[in-house]
Amino acid sequence: MSPLLPRLYAAEPREAIRFGEHALTYAELAGSAGALARRIADAGRVAVWATPTPATVVGVVAALVAGVPAVPLNPKTGERELTHIVGDSEPTVVLAGPDDQLPPALAALERIDVIADGTAGDGTAGGLPAEPADSAPALIVYTSGTTGPPKGAVLPRRALAATLDALQDAWAWTADDVLVHGLPLFHVHGLILGVLGPLRRGGSVRHLGRFSVEGVTRELTAGATMLFGVPTMYHRIAEVIDARPELAKALAGARLLVSGSAALPAPDHRRIARAAGRPVIERYGMTETLMLCAQRADGGARPGAVGTPLPGVELRLAEEADGIGEIQVRGPSLFSGYLNRPDATAAAFTEDGWFRTGDMASRDPDGQVRIVGRKATDLIKSGGYKIGAGEIENALLDHPGVREAAVTGEPDEDLGERIVAWVVPSDPQLPPSKVELADHVANQLAPHKRPRVVRYLSELPRNEMGKIMKRALHV
Ligand code: ATP
Ligand code: MG
Repeated sequence: MSPLLPRLYAAEPREAIRFGEHALTYAELAGSAGALARRIADAGRVAVWATPTPATVVGVVAALVAGVPAVPLNPKTGERELTHIVGDSEPTVVLAGPDDQLPPALAALERIDVIADGTAGDGTAGGLPAEPADSAPALIVYTSGTTGPPKGAVLPRRALAATLDALQDAWAWTADDVLVHGLPLFHVHGLILGVLGPLRRGGSVRHLGRFSVEGVTRELTAGATMLFGVPTMYHRIAEVIDARPELAKALAGARLLVSGSAALPAPDHRRIARAAGRPVIERYGMTETLMLCAQRADGGARPGAVGTPLPGVELRLAEEADGIGEIQVRGPSLFSGYLNRPDATAAAFTEDGWFRTGDMASRDPDGQVRIVGRKATDLIKSGGYKIGAGEIENALLDHPGVREAAVTGEPDEDLGERIVAWVVPSDPQLPPSKVELADHVANQLAPHKRPRVVRYLSELPRNEMGKIMKRALHV
C-alpha cells in the first residue's frame, strides 16, 4: 500500500504542528517518530496517553510508522473505565510525555517517555519499516460513550486513508492549509481529521491546547485557513460574535469553518453566518465508519443538513416511513469490528452487509442528508407521530430565555411517549414559564410538537466532546 503519511518522509523543514511555543517541522516529526518507531517495533499494541501535546502526535505517528496498533487514551477517564479499556485492548507499552503522571490502571505497562522536541535523532536513517498492508489495524479508538460504555473500534489503515482522501475532495484540502485545532486527541475528530488529516496532506496544525475564542481569533488572524470544532465551540463563538468585530473578521478570513460530532444548533449557525458573512460547514460521521457525509467547500452550507455522502460512501435510509429512515452505510472508511465484541459487531451489520448507524435521517430535495437524531434517544413516538428531538431543541434555542435545551421522550399512558424539554434558562432568576415555552414550540413548529413537561436545569450533562448525554437526564 502507498504510505499513509507520504509527506512525513519528505523531511521538509516546514512546520507540521505547533502547540503554543512548541513546534515540530516535518523533518523533526519524522526524526522523533522514526526513532520511537524502532523502540516499539516489537510491541503488540501501544497505548498513547493522549494529552493535547506534541508527545501524543509523535507517539501516534511512531505507532503508524512501526505498524503497531495504537490505542489513544483519554487522560480524564476515571480509573474504572480506564481499567476496562486497558484490559480490553491489552497494550504492552504506554507512550507518555516525560512529565505525565500516569494512574494506577496503567502501572503494569512498560512506560516509554516520548521525546518530542526534535532532538531524538534521525529516525529515518537506515530506512523505515515497510508500509503495512492496508487491512492492518492502525488505531483502536473508543467511541464517545454517549449512549453506553465506550466500545473499541478497530480502524484499519485503509479506513484512515479513505476518509481523509474523501475529505480532501470535498474540502479542496491542500498542503497550504493551516488548521486551528482545539479538540482532544483521543477521538476521531481531533486525532484523525485534525492531526492525521493535515499530516497526510502536508499542511500544518496550530493546536490551542485548550479551546478558547481568543485562541481561534488569534490563529485565524495570523493566517490559519481552517477551523474544526464541535457545536459547543461554535456556540461559544456565537454567544460573543456580535460584540467582537475582530472575531467576526477572523472567521470571515478563514477558508473553511467545519462543525461535526453532534448537531450544530440552527440559531448558532445563523448567528455566525450573519456576523462573519461565512457559513459553518457540517459533516457527519462516527468512530465506526469515519466520515460519511459532508457539505462541500464550494457551497451547500445550511443549518440542519450535513451534506451529501462522501466519495466511496454508499448510504441508504432503511425502512423509510414519512421520509425518515435509519442511515445504513457501506464503504472503504468502515472499521473492521469492535474489539473483543463479535456479538456487537454482528449486531451492527444487516444481513446484506450494511452498517447500521443508529442515526435517523431524511433527505433534502437536493440530496443532502438531514439528521433527525439517534433512533434510541432522539426519535419520540407521541400521539401517533414520529417527532425528532432536534427540531424541538432548535425551536427552544430560538427563544431568548433559553440558553441550552435537550428534548427526550418519556412513557405516557395516552400518547405512548410525551415530549419532555430540559432547559437551561439564560437567566436562572427569570426562567421563561412552561406555558410560554410550550406555546413558542407549538407556534414555531406544530401543536403536536408542544412539550408536555418542561424541566429546568443549571447545565446539561455533556461528555468531553460537548455531546449531551441524554441517558443521564432521566435518572
Ligand atoms: P457511543 O457510540 O459510545 O454511544 P457516540 O455515538 O457519541 O458514542 P461517536 O462515534 O463519537 O460516539 O459519535 C458518532 C455519533 O455522533 C453519530 O452516530 C451521530 O449520532 C453523532 N453525530 C456526528 N456528527 C453529527 C452531525 N453533524 N450532526 C448530528 N449528529 C452527529
Ligand atoms: Mg455511537
